[in-house]
Amino acid sequence: MQINITSSKESRLPSIDFNNIPFGKIFTDHMFVVDYEGGQWISPRIEPYGPIEISPALSAIHYGQSLFEGMKAHKNSDGSAYLFRPLDNWNRMNKSAERMCMPALPQDIFMEGLQTLVNMDKEWIPTHEGSALYVRPFMFATDDCVGVRPSDNYKFMIICCPANPFYNKALKVLAEEHFVRAVEGGVGFAKAAGNYGASMLPTKLAHDKGFDQILWLDGREKKYLEESGTMNLFFVADGKLYTPALAGTILDGYTRASIIQLAKDNGIEVVEARISIDDLINWSSSGKLTEGFGTGTAATIAYFSSLTYKDKEYSLLPIEQCQISTKLAKELNDIKSFKAEDKHGWMWKI
Ligand SMILES: *Cc1c(COP(=O)(O)O)cnc(C)c1O
Repeated sequence: MQINITSSKESRLPSIDFNNIPFGKIFTDHMFVVDYEGGQWISPRIEPYGPIEISPALSAIHYGQSLFEGMKAHKNSDGSAYLFRPLDNWNRMNKSAERMCMPALPQDIFMEGLQTLVNMDKEWIPTHEGSALYVRPFMFATDDCVGVRPSDNYKFMIICCPANPFYNKALKVLAEEHFVRAVEGGVGFAKAAGNYGASMLPTKLAHDKGFDQILWLDGREKKYLEESGTMNLFFVADGKLYTPALAGTILDGYTRASIIQLAKDNGIEVVEARISIDDLINWSSSGKLTEGFGTGTAATIAYFSSLTYKDKEYSLLPIEQCQISTKLAKELNDIKSFKAEDKHGWMWKI
């Protein structure tokens, strides 16, 4: 595959204050672009990061054939760049694409585009503790047509932004009794753009009531735990690690999969099951429920300080006492920062 490269004339890197980067607003010098036309992916290229021209009738805007991925790149002390589980992102993107009636992207275009781009903008990978380059692959429909039908044309692009460590304040989560994130047969397992648009009002209302994040319950009975915000969910009860089983409505997160693996490596019993909010409350009342957290690429682990259901707040242990979750978070962060051996081959050297 031939990637056509147009380098930026001058790097914006010297103007960036790495100690003060707002998440998601500062982009590296380049972006990767490939077009889908006439049933084929054509003209893969790297261009200077910048605006793209689109039609007002762009079908992605009108009907939401649009999806994304998220991963992180890290740099070790000898200056080599690594990606965390990139093939899993490629795989998941194509599952999302299938559900959204969008074309699959071949592995070589995804991986070569990704590696060439991250390598070109390697100097943008922050190296201080907990920082990384956030990499955002995305695909959207580009037909110039307001007819409701699958688009014939698409764009796949990758953009990157340096990201500082996520501030890890423990979150107050609200079990949502009215709004739902996903239903069986829907698009909950896909990283489809519309899922995030749909979650903004419920999240804003929860913020207005003083909560940091929503704990989503299932769409049918509003009884079973699904996710928290855009993170997968974990609870520790009786020393066991519980997480909702993937059942089509939950996003298959790779931080989730990594935490499950590390827990098993540590001999911690992991239970992937249908877990009801009543189970949680019973565990809390009997003193079994100790820790709770969400997982995702952005934060790795976000600890919960309490969960609220039907106006009653149930506390969880403060972070300093969360032995299981802090241990798993440290092990995962140590692998990503080259301090621990990467036994499972999650770090992909560019
Ligand atoms: C991206 C995402 C996650 C986390 O997935 P990771 O692969 O761990 O980053 C969890 N839930 C939702 C809804 C997401 O969009």
